[in-house]
Amino acid sequence: MPVIVQKFGGTSVGTAERIKAVARRVVETRIDGYDVVVVVSAMGHTTDELVGLASEITPMPPPRELDMLLTAGERISMALLAMAISSLGHDAVSFTGSQAGIITSSEHGRAKIIDVRAARIQEALGQGKVVIVAGFQGVSTTADVTTLGRGGSDTTAVALAAALTAESCEVYTDVDGVYTADPRIVPDARVLHAVSYEEMLEMAASGARVLQLRSVEYARNHGVLLRVRSSFNETTGTWVREEDERMEKAIISGVTHDVSEAKVTIQDVPDRPGIAARVFQRMSDEGVNVDMIVQNVSTEGTTDISFTVPREDGLRAKASIDAELREIGAAGVTYDEGIGKVSLVGAGMKSHPGVAATMFGALADAGVNIEMISTSSIRISCVVREADVVKAVRAVHDRFRLSDEVILRESHPGPA
Ligand code: ASP
Ligand code: MG
Repeated sequence: MPVIVQKFGGTSVGTAERIKAVARRVVETRIDGYDVVVVVSAMGHTTDELVGLASEITPMPPPRELDMLLTAGERISMALLAMAISSLGHDAVSFTGSQAGIITSSEHGRAKIIDVRAARIQEALGQGKVVIVAGFQGVSTTADVTTLGRGGSDTTAVALAAALTAESCEVYTDVDGVYTADPRIVPDARVLHAVSYEEMLEMAASGARVLQLRSVEYARNHGVLLRVRSSFNETTGTWVREEDERMEKAIISGVTHDVSEAKVTIQDVPDRPGIAARVFQRMSDEGVNVDMIVQNVSTEGTTDISFTVPREDGLRAKASIDAELREIGAAGVTYDEGIGKVSLVGAGMKSHPGVAATMFGALADAGVNIEMISTSSIRISCVVREADVVKAVRAVHDRFRLSDEVILRESHPGPA
């Protein structure tokens, strides 16, 4: 029998009623002739609540114990779902990540899956059972329970789909799929029928929250056919898969935004070799993830270097530069949390000139000033004032006519 992996996020299993609805959907898939492996997130906001509880005990919980605590969330939903499926008259068995054979590296809170030993899952499937696996967790090579980072259940699901050579991996969520922009900002944003792995990677890395970035990388590396869809209705959702020429023809897939970063600027940096190396080595030593970097052309031997970092690391980043100002020989460092990043993503950018000009034109006409720009072959990102983000997203979405149903239907007809 073909295998299908179905992953249900926190809202989809948020209440007993929702869990029963998920059980019905799983049983329908089973009746359709599939071996079903289900991956669940913790119910509703359980993970956030557990993080909050830990912080009431201590500001710095030991990472190992935090993982022990957080993995309990998924254990609750997996057991309840197994009960719900049993009560519909179908055999089901739940496994923790460890029992399911998810072997990870040992960095607590951000472990990576290094192997999936799926023998026990395969045995249970062979016995005609629906297998339910706790998402977001595994066991390290040193036999400790680990978690895969926030949103990690997506990665559990993709890794299992790869290991079991599943027909597809369905990620069920509370929205209808991947949108051309956040529908809370752009009410006429549309659900995309299909995006390429590369587009989805760029979208996830630039603010789209629908899939964990790591899960998209894993899907691309292992060729897992992914589908993001709603657990609240029967709509098709969005396919994430290999690029084809129809995606390129569409040119643009979507506009994303991110208001989680801050900008650090080092002023009057002497223009000589080794300075940038020193600054960014320092950021790396501090474990600060640097995103965009801009260095101006130098005038009279000095220049400014600006870069963006996650806001939660921002003050730490500024303080560590402050401490080195004298060695760097710079005049000062400023820190700005009032920024946002707006990105345009599309596979067709590679072969269509003028996309950047059109985007900048849309921002200019909306009166939005661009502070930093960075690009990849299929993405253009602009840092703007945070207060301008909504206006900017709408202007760019509008200029590329991303609400236009006809264009999207023609160019994204779904899988062949
Ligand atoms: N429950 C975990 C979280 O909230 C993992 C997940 O839902 O994917 O991050
Ligand atoms: Mg999620």
